[in-house]
Amino acid sequence: MRLAIFGTGYVGLVTGACLADVGHQVLCVDVDADKIARLNAGEIPIHEPGLDEVVARNVEIGTLKFTTDIAGAVSHGQVQMVAVGTPPDESGAADLQYVLAVAESIGKAMDRRKIVVVKSTVPVGTSDKVRVRLAEVLAARGSSLEFDVVSNPEFLKEGAAVNDFLKPDRIIVGTATEHAREVMKELYEPFNRNHDRTIYMDVRSAELTKYAANAMLATKISFINEIANLAERLGADIEEVRRGIGADPRIGYHFIYPGLGYGGSCFPKDVQALVRTAIDIGYDAPLIAAVEAVNNRQKTTSFDKMASHFGGAPGLKGKRIAIWGLAFKPNTDDMREAPSRVLIEALWSAGATVVAYDPVAMNETARIYGERDDLILAKDKYAALDGADALAICTEWQQFRAPDFDEMAERLATKLIFDGRNIYAPDRLSRDGWTYISVGRAPVY
Ligand code: NAD
Repeated sequence: MRLAIFGTGYVGLVTGACLADVGHQVLCVDVDADKIARLNAGEIPIHEPGLDEVVARNVEIGTLKFTTDIAGAVSHGQVQMVAVGTPPDESGAADLQYVLAVAESIGKAMDRRKIVVVKSTVPVGTSDKVRVRLAEVLAARGSSLEFDVVSNPEFLKEGAAVNDFLKPDRIIVGTATEHAREVMKELYEPFNRNHDRTIYMDVRSAELTKYAANAMLATKISFINEIANLAERLGADIEEVRRGIGADPRIGYHFIYPGLGYGGSCFPKDVQALVRTAIDIGYDAPLIAAVEAVNNRQKTTSFDKMASHFGGAPGLKGKRIAIWGLAFKPNTDDMREAPSRVLIEALWSAGATVVAYDPVAMNETARIYGERDDLILAKDKYAALDGADALAICTEWQQFRAPDFDEMAERLATKLIFDGRNIYAPDRLSRDGWTYISVGRAPVY
């Protein structure tokens, strides 16, 4: 099957590479000429495990191509997939300008019947807007070509995106026509060999399913963080509580790790957009609004604990703080809405110097913050510790889980760890004379 994918970001590129890998003829199109030039030069603009191999393999055999030629992409395939960004606007609602721009492009260049597949995360009703915009452009051309608009939200996780796409838990297809359903069935057939993972539904339900999924996951995180904050104040240990509740299969162990709050390009913006949707239709949705409020507060807890340890924020002036982990979660270089940024920026405001290390997000850190006197990018995790007054852990990368504590103690000026991810056992650190301040557990001195 021949298809064009608009947008070669995390979703578009992974989708394009994986659909090409099963034999479809995929043309990825982006308005970012620099990104397309890099892709055509064999460079992968994002860090995503396994993606480089899949891209290289398919570029070589010609099933995957990259272009900036929008009209060429429209004529390339029967399926036109929209995977452009939907960032929040000033009100918190999803900004649909990129999605609607693609609808216009398709309308202008369409030469035969197309299936427009909206893969971007978009509020309920957006597929209708796409349909209207496309119909207007066609009408202006005096064309009566037919088209279908399908909602096919994406559920891949950054850091495991290739595997998630190749082995999806489910494929959601929202469609109103039998024709579109048949085409979508063919498109995803190779991923359904073991059993059919596709769930067909109406378009609006498909659109809401994506927001409901992300809001549910964000709720789990804010819930456990709320309980962690209670545990801290009540003399309980959140890790015991986590194990205690996770054993109930109705609750389960997944996604109930306490920490510094969720970040990334999806949960914050999608929860915000759902709150906005509720406001727009005059429905009070206090639970979802609270999920966001709890998360925003959680992101400041690491700084608050540090400030309190040093006798208030002024006590951090002139201090050197090592940070392990900058990406919003392990296995990605994505730092959008990362809790590390809230901590780093608060430390700067207090007059501290940050020595930062992340296994893959160093370039991204440099891109975001540029050169400044109060930011040192360390060459490895131990180098970050040299002479530092404390270590703060923001991302639970595997390589931080079992470090050489003796070497850490030698390098740090003080044996002091603020662990925002609870990756160490307090007993062990206490035995070795560390001060260890984590989440939802009593600090050890
Ligand atoms: P991204 O910002 O990484 O990539 C978007 C790309 O679209 C950019 O390269 C941009 O240049 C391009 N673009 C913008 N306008 C265009 C146009 N008119 N024509 C062609 N290309 C255009 O975004 P992303 O993280 O891949 O997310 C895309 C969508 O998928 C969003 O709605 C997001 O919420 C959703 N989503 C993201 C993830 C994730 O983990 N990143 C997971 C599921 C769903």
